[in-house]
Amino acid sequence: MFLPDFRFHQPITLQDAVGLLMQKPNAAAMAGGTDLLVEMKKGLRLHDDIVSLAKIPELKRIIEDEQNLFIGACSTHSEVMASQLVDNYAPALAEATSKIGSEQIRNTGTIGGNICTAASCCDTAPVLLAMNAAVEIARAENIRIVPLRDFFSFNKKTILEKGDLVTRIIVPKTRPGTGTCYEKFGLREAGSIAVVSVAANLNIHEAFITDACIVIGAVAPTPKISDQAVESLKGKKVHELTEDSPSLEEAGDAAVRDSIPIDDIRGGAQFRRDVLKVLTKRAILRAIKNTEIGN
Ligand SMILES: Cc1cc2nc3c(=O)[nH]c(=O)nc-3n(C[C@H](O)[C@H](O)[C@H](O)COP(=O)(O)OP(=O)(O)OC[C@H]3O[C@@H](n4cnc5c(N)ncnc54)[C@H](O)[C@@H]3O)c2cc1C
Repeated sequence: MFLPDFRFHQPITLQDAVGLLMQKPNAAAMAGGTDLLVEMKKGLRLHDDIVSLAKIPELKRIIEDEQNLFIGACSTHSEVMASQLVDNYAPALAEATSKIGSEQIRNTGTIGGNICTAASCCDTAPVLLAMNAAVEIARAENIRIVPLRDFFSFNKKTILEKGDLVTRIIVPKTRPGTGTCYEKFGLREAGSIAVVSVAANLNIHEAFITDACIVIGAVAPTPKISDQAVESLKGKKVHELTEDSPSLEEAGDAAVRDSIPIDDIRGGAQFRRDVLKVLTKRAILRAIKNTEIGN
């Protein structure tokens, strides 16, 4: 497996990167290259021009305003994990990135590359969806913001068009009374991709669940918000949701009803359903606990 020939561009401004992607007929953006180069080596993709994003400083910044975190698309998973802002306001995202691949992959792969690959098993999207994140996209002179829930169109497909570059991911900050978490099941503890994953984001006020988002990963063509699990949780009293309680069982079953798992080398569809139920219940219990400890 050798990489095919291509022209390599390393712009230092966003404007130049966007310009190159628009002008060159068959160009691809490259952040860490941990997905792109593997696919090119395997002959699954062929590009005449590769536009590296590695030297554009603004794509690596993690900043905040009153309400949101703005995470530069080229922040590596290790940088996201190490960010104090992420730790303070999106701890489940730090948790999800810490579970990605190996240290080498986390030091090279980026959060933007992770969502642009749009694999249903990718680790950052479930948490970002659960937190109602949005994606900032640049093309030519224009910047637009798209909710992440509208970003994935199918497995490994996004709404990005020629010349589009993801510049930042906008993540609403967690507020008091919010508990989030990420559960991942892989075939090994380290270095394996998700067979099933679940992200939970619960809002609790006076012991009632006032708002919730449950996202299921690797059990549908894209990471998916489980509307049925969300409905089953809203308005529930927290102490109705104890281990093995009927309400918790129902939330787990609801997530399974929203899944469309496949059989593949990592697990059969029924195995995935069984694991999904367990992970959903575990994620809900942990998110409730995280609310109590102020996460
Ligand atoms: C050994 C190994 C283990 C892995 N383990 C995991 C794992 O546990 N969990 C997981 O989720 N993933 C895993 N991955 C997949 C991969 O590492 C991640 O998806 C990573 O985040 C991809 O980021 P990247 O910067 O390397 O993307 P790249 O390979 O640079 O790009 C991926 C795709 O996104 C496009 N792209 C990149 N950045 C942008 C941008 N800013 N705007 C528009 N398009 C863009 C590229 O054109 C390309 O199509 C693994 C990969 C390997 C090789």
